Amino acid sequence: MSPPSLIQTHPKLTGAAPIALSYELFPPRNAAAEESLWATIRELESTNPDYVSVTYGASGSNRSTAVALLNRLLTETTLRPLAHLTCVGNNAEELAEIISELLDHGVRGILALRGDLPKGASTAPQPGQLNYAQDLIELIRRVEQRRTALLCAGKVAIGVAAYPAKHPESPSEQHDVEVLLAKQRSGADFAITQVFFHPEQYADLLTRARRAGVTIPIVPGVMPLTSVRRLERLATLTGVEPAPALLEALGRADDDGERRRIGVRATVDLARAALDAGAPGIHLYTFNEHGAALDVLDKLQLLRPGRPALPRRTLAPA
Ligand code: FAD
Repeated sequence: MSPPSLIQTHPKLTGAAPIALSYELFPPRNAAAEESLWATIRELESTNPDYVSVTYGASGSNRSTAVALLNRLLTETTLRPLAHLTCVGNNAEELAEIISELLDHGVRGILALRGDLPKGASTAPQPGQLNYAQDLIELIRRVEQRRTALLCAGKVAIGVAAYPAKHPESPSEQHDVEVLLAKQRSGADFAITQVFFHPEQYADLLTRARRAGVTIPIVPGVMPLTSVRRLERLATLTGVEPAPALLEALGRADDDGERRRIGVRATVDLARAALDAGAPGIHLYTFNEHGAALDVLDKLQLLRPGRPALPRRTLAPA
C-alpha cells in the first residue's frame, strides 16, 4: 500500500467547498419579455453565480431564440451559460449540428435531456432516434472528441436531470436512480433536480443515489412559488404534487406581497434543508424574474467565494 498523499494528510489544503449557485432562465417569447429578462439578467449577474442555464423549448421550437440568448450571455455579460438540449424534436444529425454550433459559439456546458414527449406519443424507444438523455450525453461526448484540439481551453461539462419525486413515466424511484447511474457512466458530470416540495425527497434521493454508486454532484433545483396558479401549472407540467400546506397558505394570502413572503420562506426552508442534507449547491428556477430569487438568496446567506468583479465583455463594433 502506498503512503498517504500530501492532500490526504493535509485536508485543509483544499479548504471548505463553497456552495455552487446557478439560475435557470428561458428564452423570451417577445420583445417586451426580452427587455424584462435583460433587467433580470443584470440583477442576477451582480450576485456572481457559477452559471445560468437556458432552457430549450418543447420539441426544439425555440432553438433560434435559445441560441440568440446564449450568444448574448457569452458576448455581453460575465455569465457562464449552461445550454439545455433535448432529444425530443430533433434527429441525431440535427442534434450533432446543434452541439457543434453551441461549442463554436463558446458554450462549454450542456444540460442533456430527453425532453417531454408530445401528448399521446409512445414512450417506447423509436428506431433511428436518440430516445434517452443517456444517448444525447454519448453524442455530446462524440462531438467533443472530434474537437479535442479546439477545446483545449476546457472540456464540455455535461449536466443531467435527477428526480427527488419519481419521474412520471418511471416504474419506481429505484429505476430513476439506475437511470441516473447510467447517465453518469455515459459521461454526465453533475445533475440538477426537478422541483420538489418535501426536503426528505431530496435527502432520500442522495442516499439512494450514493448507495447505487452515483458520485456526481446532485444539485437541488428550487423554485420560489408565489402564486397558486403557477403552482398548479407546474404540477401539470412536471407531474410533481404541490405541497398542500403551501397551496393553502398561498390561497389564503391577501395580496401579492404576502404571497411573495410565503413563497420565499418555503423556498428558503427547502433549500436550507437540502444544504443540511449535503447539497453541493442551489439551482434557482427564476421564471425570468429576479425579485423572489434575490430574496431567497439574501436569506440563505450562502458560503460563496468572493470574486473580483470581472470587466463586462462587450460586442465588438461591426
Ligand atoms: P431520461 O433520463 O432519458 O428519462 C426519461 C424517461 O425514460 C424516464 O422515465 C426514465 O426512467 C426512462 N429511461 C431513461 N433511460 C432509460 C433506459 N436506458 N431504459 C429504459 N428507460 C429509461 N424539458 C424541456 O423540454 N426543456 C428543458 O429545457 C428542460 N429543462 C429541464 C431542466 C431540469 C433541471 C429538469 C429536471 C428537467 C427539465 N426538463 C426540460 C424536463 C425533462 O425534459 C423531462 O422531465 C423529461 O420527461 C425527462 O427528461 P430526462 O432528461 O430526465 O430523460
